[in-house]
Amino acid sequence: MYYIYHIPGHKYGMTQHYPQRCIDQGFDTYELTETHTDIMIGSEREKELNTTAGYPWNDGQYYYLMVERGTLNKGTPKSDTSKMKEYHQNRPKEHADKIQASKIGVPLSKELKQNISKGIAKNPKILCTHCEESYDPRNYSRWHGDNCKQKKG
Ligand SMILES: [Zn+2]
Repeated sequence: MYYIYHIPGHKYGMTQHYPQRCIDQGFDTYELTETHTDIMIGSEREKELNTTAGYPWNDGQYYYLMVERGTLNKGTPKSDTSKMKEYHQNRPKEHADKIQASKIGVPLSKELKQNISKGIAKNPKILCTHCEESYDPRNYSRWHGDNCKQKKG
C-alpha cells in the first residue's frame, strides 16, 4: 500500500511507511490524505496534490522515482521521468484507439453495403428471349437461352 500524506505548510509526500516516514523527516504534524495500490497513480496524485496546493514541485520528486533510485539504482540519482511520460502517453493512446476503432466501424459497414449493391449492378439480369423472363446470369446460362425449356425447335 502507498500512502499519500500531507505535512501542512510543507508538502504532500508518498510512502509505504506511514507515519514512520513523516517522523523520520522530523515532522510532528502530518495527516494521511490518500492510499493507493498503484504506484503510478499514487505518484500522479502526489504531483497533483502538491501543485494544486501550491507547493513547489519538480518531476524528480515522483515517488516511483524515489523507489527506483533507492532500490534499483542505489546511489545513482537520476531525474528520468520517461516512465511517467510513457504512462501518460499510453493511457490516452488506448483511449484514442478505442474511439478510432468505433469510428472505423461505421464507414466499413457503409462501404460493404455499397460493394454489395455494386455487385448486384455488375450482374444485371439477362432476358431470355424464349420465355421472356429475366434471370441472373447463373440461372440464365443453366436453364435459359439455348437451354430454355420453352425454346422452340
Ligand atoms: Zn427461358
